[in-house]
Parts: sequence; structure tokens; C-alpha cells
Amino acid sequence: MAAKRKYELNKFLEVLITKSMSTGVIARKLKCCSSTALRYLRELKKAKQVIEQRISNTINLWKLTGKRILLIDVDSKIPNFALMKISAYHKSLGGNVLLTHGSQVKFTDIPDRIYASIIYKKNKHALDYILTQYPDLNIDIGGSGYDLTKELPDHIENMAPDYSLYPENDSSLGFSSRGCFRKCPFCIVHEKEGNFRRVQHPEEWYNPKFRKITFLDNNILADKEWFMQITDWCIARGLKVWFTQGLDIRLVDSEIAKRLFEIRNHHHMITFAWDNLADESTIREKIELLKQAGFTKNIMLQ
Ligand code: SF4
Repeated sequence: MAAKRKYELNKFLEVLITKSMSTGVIARKLKCCSSTALRYLRELKKAKQVIEQRISNTINLWKLTGKRILLIDVDSKIPNFALMKISAYHKSLGGNVLLTHGSQVKFTDIPDRIYASIIYKKNKHALDYILTQYPDLNIDIGGSGYDLTKELPDHIENMAPDYSLYPENDSSLGFSSRGCFRKCPFCIVHEKEGNFRRVQHPEEWYNPKFRKITFLDNNILADKEWFMQITDWCIARGLKVWFTQGLDIRLVDSEIAKRLFEIRNHHHMITFAWDNLADESTIREKIELLKQAGFTKNIMLQ
């Protein structure tokens, strides 16, 4: 009978992304004994995912055979969609992908490719110290906090995201629309994504492994017909719905209010944006509509 598998093989690949290591060091990193590590490493060797180099009579170094891809998620608060697509792309080519969080990145062997994402402008220079330490390093940095104009190339953009990158995530993620028809002076959305437009119905990107669905759209209420269609679709499948961005309360009417009531507390609290004090009377009217639809509490204005 095959020995019971206690560790994932990927964990062994991950520890080797930043450096070739001996069996003992790998075992210490994964908190297992050397003989267990050796068993898993031999399995990977058989699958041609690692090679074994004899350094001395007692030490073997293990090295990855595929490309080593390091992804740096500097400051995302939710799973980083672009990094998930980059990961899927490189894995489809047989690459080994490691994700690190924050800006404190350490490696001994320089990986074959490094991608980093910076979401918040205040962190724009978070990786400057690595660039100074390794002047020849080629890091592909993107994200709205770093460069508003940078987009993923089509061959990566069209990949389905690699959800295994964020194992704690339990929701399907995607955009049903991009852009916004408003041009609020403090907001980057219009500059980054342009005018509002429908992009993909969730049936094109929903991953059935999850019962939750998260919309990353910036102003999903901008197209009422589309909003009703996609939420009809979610309700018909019993999906729990969440919107990462505060909803534009100025666009709420009685039908939208009823629909929001239907999907309330499905996943997280529904939040609304209130960015301009001059909108106070409109917002009070909209709160009344929400109350008429059934909301009694948990109306949060950001
Ligand atoms: S409505 Fe929201 S998404 Fe649109 S420009 Fe204003 S702040 Fe940005």
C-alpha cells in the first residue's frame, strides 16, 4: 500500500524556488524528518520536477528543473487577481511559482522571473531597496499604486486565475464590468480603466468550486440592466454575492434596493460610497428606498 501522504508536493517545490537546498535543510523548513523529505524529493525527481546534485559523500543539493517564478504581493487586501493570472500562465508552462507577501523579500539564487504588484500609491517605493541591492535584477512591477497604465499582456490576461495561490480564499473573483462613467477628481478608476463598459458575464469566469462570488467591478450599478441580469444569474445558482467596492448609492432605485435586500449579508456586508457632502439630500432619499426595501440596519456609508 502506498505510504500516506502528509505533505503536498508543491510545498517542496516552493521551498526550492529561492535557492537549491540539501535534504536536511528542506526537511527543517517543512518541519519533517530527512527520510520523509527524501521520499517526497525522490518522487519529484521521478516526475522530472527536481534534479539531485551530489556535493559530497553526505550532501545532496536539490534543484528545480522548471523556471523559478517569484511573485511579490506587496500590499493587496484581497487575493491579487493579476498575480493569480501570472501564476496560472507560468504554471501552464511548467514553471514553479512562489508567492510572497509584503516588501521584505529574501532570496539567494535569483529566480528566473520576478513579478511584483503594488496596489497603494503610498507603497510605490516599497521595493526600491531590493532594486538597489540587486541592480541587475529585472522585476516586472505593476499595480495601480505603481503604474496606472500598465496592463497584462493578452496571453496572461486571458488565463483563468490560479486560486491555489491564495488557499485561504473561498470565493470566485472577477469583473463583470470595467471603468466608470463618473470622473471623481480623487479617483484613479477613469484614468486606469476608462469609461464604463460590460466586460464578462460571470458565467464566463465563475469557478464552480466556490459557493461565493466576488465582483471586483468599480461601479457595478452603472448599468442597471446588466446588474439585474448578473445578480439574477447568481441568485438562480444560490451563490453568495459580494462587491469589493462601495456601491454608488446615487444610482439606487426601488428595484435595485429590493435586489440588494435579496442578496444582503450573502457574503460580507454591503457597503455604499459617500464621497461628496453635497450629495447628502440624495443619499438620505436613497437610504429611505433601502429602508422601504427591507433594510433596517447595516447600511454602511464609506
Ligand atoms: S463613482 Fe466611484 S469608481 Fe466612479 S469615479 Fe467616482 S469614486 Fe471612482
